[in-house]
Amino acid sequence: MSSVQIKPRDADDLTTAERVRILAKTARFDPPAAKLADGRRELVGLSREELLAELAAIGQKPFRAKQIWHWIYHQGVTEFSRMSSIARPLQEELAKQFVIGRPEAALVQTSADETRKFLFRFRDGQEAETVYIPDRQEDRGAVCISSQVGCTLSCRFCHTGTQTLVRNLGAAEIVGQFMAARDSYNEWPSPKGETPRLLSTIVLMGMGEPLYNYANVAKAMTIVMDNEGIALSRRRITLSTSGVVPMMDRCGSELGVNLAVSLHAVRDDLRDELVPLNRKYPIAELMAACRRYPAASNARRITFEYVMLKGINDTPEDARALVRLIAGIPAKVNLIPFNPWPGSAYETSTRAAIDAFAQIVMDAGFSSPVRSPRGRDILAACGQLRTESRKEGPRA
Ligand code: SAH
Ligand code: SF4
Repeated sequence: MSSVQIKPRDADDLTTAERVRILAKTARFDPPAAKLADGRRELVGLSREELLAELAAIGQKPFRAKQIWHWIYHQGVTEFSRMSSIARPLQEELAKQFVIGRPEAALVQTSADETRKFLFRFRDGQEAETVYIPDRQEDRGAVCISSQVGCTLSCRFCHTGTQTLVRNLGAAEIVGQFMAARDSYNEWPSPKGETPRLLSTIVLMGMGEPLYNYANVAKAMTIVMDNEGIALSRRRITLSTSGVVPMMDRCGSELGVNLAVSLHAVRDDLRDELVPLNRKYPIAELMAACRRYPAASNARRITFEYVMLKGINDTPEDARALVRLIAGIPAKVNLIPFNPWPGSAYETSTRAAIDAFAQIVMDAGFSSPVRSPRGRDILAACGQLRTESRKEGPRA
């Protein structure tokens, strides 16, 4: 070979090596095995293939897996004795081998504005929060799900960022948050067709960076989207990332869910400070990944999240730079007034500054809704989540 061509980092360079590194690193934070002390296996969170294999191992034919899947994810039952299409002896046998669990709701708080926050405790005692945000006008709402206990990143304005990463949540724990939230609103069986659906969308915007726990998040979303179960369309799921560029392509091609990108600054020097991950994947690379995100179209725009921090990132100049940056991307800009938390160092932009910013973005042809804070009184608003969960001593 003659000369080696040096090209700027692009999609190809970022793919294999970088993804392998990220996936290997995140695997170190894997959740404990989904087995009880008595040896019973958790069925929630298994892929269809895995469920099939578990049942085959006790001599059951494939149609059983289909039936049980339907009971778990469509009917929402947690007891085998309620599976009326299954004969009693087999129900008993299943109950000896398996369990259909839910994370324990250690604390449930409902805000004055009806937002409900759940503190879920998992089998090993670790905790994460989930928030249900009902629509103000209609009988629907979003469930904001956590993907990790804590976060490896430390965005300066985010409460979760002050807590180190304890561990990743497993697929069972991620799907389990949604299922337990549904339990809380008696929303089983899964509503079909025109039936109002209170828990109608999922936003992966809780604690943690979902693209640093891609395998578990992807498995959980595949379960949630399965047509014979919860059957939520990919259009009703939005994954928010602080910009893990190499995993964005994969998320787009494999899951095709809506993407939200936590931008928050239009210059690298400022974004380096606010979202330290920017030092690894700077704005230009992030924008390139957005431009090639396969699930983006005029009907399914990428959401750019922009937290409004007084005197930091909220000038008309910032707004103009923002529209130049996202020009040509099917996008909308979600302006999030900063939500304070105990000890936070920033202030929320003034209403006038937010409105002026929104107007510039709108005049450039992008929708720019201002996200009204929900559940601030119970620390349930964007960026306020944090738990007391801690790592238990050093790991081998
Ligand atoms: N880790 C992912 C998803 C969770 S955070 C991410 O960063 O995108 C969901 C959104 O809330 C992000 O846009 C995040 O930047 C924003 N956010 C964090 N702290 C906030 C705060 N104190 N006030 C308002 N928004 C905040
Ligand atoms: Fe982690 Fe997102 Fe908070 Fe940043 S904003 S610390 S990526 S949860």
